[in-house]
Amino acid sequence: MSKSLLVALNVLGASMLWAQSPVPQGTLSVRWEELTAADFTAAIARAQGTCLLPFGVLEKHGPHLPLGNDLLNVRYAALHAAQQEYAVVFPEYYFGQILEAKHQPGTVAYSRALQLQLLQETTDEMARNGCRKTVVVNGHGGNNSLLPYFAQTQLEAARDYVVYVLGIPGGGEGGPPRRSDPATDMHAGERETSMSLIARPDLVHLDRATQESGADMARLTLPEGLYTGIWWYARFPNHYAGEGAVASRELGEFSAQTWISAIVRAIRAVKADSASPRLQQEFYERSRNPLGTRR
Ligand SMILES: [Zn+2]
Repeated sequence: MSKSLLVALNVLGASMLWAQSPVPQGTLSVRWEELTAADFTAAIARAQGTCLLPFGVLEKHGPHLPLGNDLLNVRYAALHAAQQEYAVVFPEYYFGQILEAKHQPGTVAYSRALQLQLLQETTDEMARNGCRKTVVVNGHGGNNSLLPYFAQTQLEAARDYVVYVLGIPGGGEGGPPRRSDPATDMHAGERETSMSLIARPDLVHLDRATQESGADMARLTLPEGLYTGIWWYARFPNHYAGEGAVASRELGEFSAQTWISAIVRAIRAVKADSASPRLQQEFYERSRNPLGTRR
């Protein structure tokens, strides 16, 4: 056997070994789709079974931001947080609630039943792969009712995992002074556009931000506490609420850091939470036998 063939065989042997054994922990990606099967097992162990599901939609964001803006931003925050406090991050999930934007180009609005079924099967499959605790990290205001409802319905039948929901953080105390009215800075406005300037500046077209109005059209007046689904369209038919043109990188940095810190805190709290899994199991057992009469 020639020396060069021997060397080649050694390299091949070493690379096969390398392929089968997990990489050292410090270099494990936080991205589910980037891990090999062997590394995935190591990643779940390192994450203590804690996984993130950044949750967005495809919808218009004013005249100046991309359709995938919410998911791009929430993934930016979630990936940075998971690098600080290790967790496995599920791939791009664009399948949230966005029926109110069906009149705008590029919106993908799945039916109510499919939204819930797909999310349930996703968290089921994540759990089957070791995600005993999944944190759905919300990036889109239109999911604010869906996600707590989804978490509530986990009590419908016994499950061996816990779903947590992390809502979109509020404006945050402090930070740079705002240039627009915080009351209507809700969608593709100053704050969200500033965040996009940090997450994906290449996709922000600030010069187009005044091409449409993000003002509140106030076309429906109902008493406080009375809700109807058309409320958003009544106020913001352009799917734009606020003033994106006054966005700044300074506010973006502040918003990104606020969001990343909130996710890091959530991952740590979830890892330390032994009460929820225990109480869930206790509840499932008691709910099978509410009168305590069955053995
Ligand atoms: Zn949104």
